[in-house]
Amino acid sequence: MAEKYDVIIVGGGPAGIFAALELSRVVGLKVLLIEKGKDLDERTNLVCGLGGAGAYSDGKLTLTPEVGGRLKDYLGVTETEALINYVGELYLKYGAPSQLYGVGDRVDEVSRRASLAGLRLIPVPLRHLGTERCRSILGAMRNHLIPRLELRLETAAATIIIGGNKVRGVETETGKRFDGDYLILAPGREGADWLANEAKRLKLTLYRNPVDVGIRVEVPVAVTEELTSVLYEAKLEYLSKSFDDRIRTFCMCPAGEVTMETSGGSDSVITVNGHSYASSKSQNTNFALLVSTNFTEPFREPIAYGKYIARLANILSGGVLIQRLGDLMEGHRSTPARIERGIVKPTLKEATPGDLSFVIPYRHLTGIIEMLQALDKLAPGVADRHTLLYGVEVKFYSCRPHLSASLETEVKNLFAAGDGAGVSRGLVQASASGVIAAREILKRTGVRSKAKRRGSRKPAALS
Ligand SMILES: Cc1cc2nc3c(=O)[nH]c(=O)nc-3n(C[C@H](O)[C@H](O)[C@H](O)COP(=O)(O)OP(=O)(O)OC[C@H]3O[C@@H](n4cnc5c(N)ncnc54)[C@H](O)[C@@H]3O)c2cc1C
Repeated sequence: MAEKYDVIIVGGGPAGIFAALELSRVVGLKVLLIEKGKDLDERTNLVCGLGGAGAYSDGKLTLTPEVGGRLKDYLGVTETEALINYVGELYLKYGAPSQLYGVGDRVDEVSRRASLAGLRLIPVPLRHLGTERCRSILGAMRNHLIPRLELRLETAAATIIIGGNKVRGVETETGKRFDGDYLILAPGREGADWLANEAKRLKLTLYRNPVDVGIRVEVPVAVTEELTSVLYEAKLEYLSKSFDDRIRTFCMCPAGEVTMETSGGSDSVITVNGHSYASSKSQNTNFALLVSTNFTEPFREPIAYGKYIARLANILSGGVLIQRLGDLMEGHRSTPARIERGIVKPTLKEATPGDLSFVIPYRHLTGIIEMLQALDKLAPGVADRHTLLYGVEVKFYSCRPHLSASLETEVKNLFAAGDGAGVSRGLVQASASGVIAAREILKRTGVRSKAKRRGSRKPAALS
């Protein structure tokens, strides 16, 4: 016989964990969290395992509705801000440092200088956890949750069970069935294809998100220090002269490291990313330059397009390509000897020297070079010939099922949250989306009366 729960959460990343934390504020609900990967201390996979991609993330908490997701489209700006504050406080409670970047007069000065360079600065209040603190914070949340819910690790949801347009539960890859009154899908990018396939099977309306393709730039720490000391992460936008494309900086990692990541499930590709530790510092700062691409009809496959470009880099290099900007501009490939001679020493040693112009579309590469030149006016040295470029960085934003303001799908009591549902692109909004779904469930369960009815359970109370 299937086991029965009030709420089942699929995915143990920030969205799933924050949904669980919110549900755990009330006594009396039987909650199951299933996670495909291993426990926080046992996992080695970057994006799969308790803590999700959050566990290995750089831990930049971006505390504004303007970046990291589209929650304001569902809730409006004021409500999203309130939720972001709430989530920010919870991160503080579990160990986030209080230092706040990206606020004060010096931000206005950077903004002024950016506009003179043809760039737009998006001011973002930000706290930096660092990768190791991310893990300890998520670990503290996990420890809080363990006595309050049932956690099943190495358990992958396979089939969503529906009856009478209402969710009934979920079946795992090994055929085990769990019944539940409510289901929150929070499978992250790792499970985005699965979620989209299930949504198609259930005939839910799906919207596609644009794909962002670009490179990761690595420069000496000193080059961006004036920006990063004020902002930690400079969120800058540029409109290319050649194509009028929007190009943006993404995930700036001062004194950080460039990393490789594998994404895309069975059809996976190797892409580049970056992170930094709060305690151990490298000599370099890295950040991505991404070109957002919205396509015209009949194009319907942004993920396939992004993977195709990533695969080109994989074919040429076995993984990630690296090239000095000077080599790119002079029209020749970087070689191991040229990289070795360079002033900037790569933090990703596994990257293969080569030529990014074989991989990145002309339109994207032209825009990226233009933006590097604009950035050079704001942070002299960014467009130096020794600057390292890694490719490719691709942000696969998941297909988005049609969701209500409480993130419910077109199936009653079936909710979708986090990056896998295409509603977030970062820790804070992923976490906040889990809270939204959980709050709606709490509203609907009327858990107080249920607790009373069951007798044996304690009355509902906030911890
Ligand atoms: C290297 C790196 C650095 C980053 N740095 C930052 C940063 O500095 N700031 C920031 O805001 N964001 C950052 N991010 C992004 C951030 O980590 C994500 O936005 C966030 O983790 C998304 O949370 P989520 O819960 O939606 O999904 P995830 O964190 O991806 O978690 C989803 C979980 O669901 C599990 N799962 C998937 N499918 C199934 C299934 N079928 N059954 C059961 N479980 C399943 C997965 O194994 C995974 O553990 C970074 C990401 C990476 C990879």
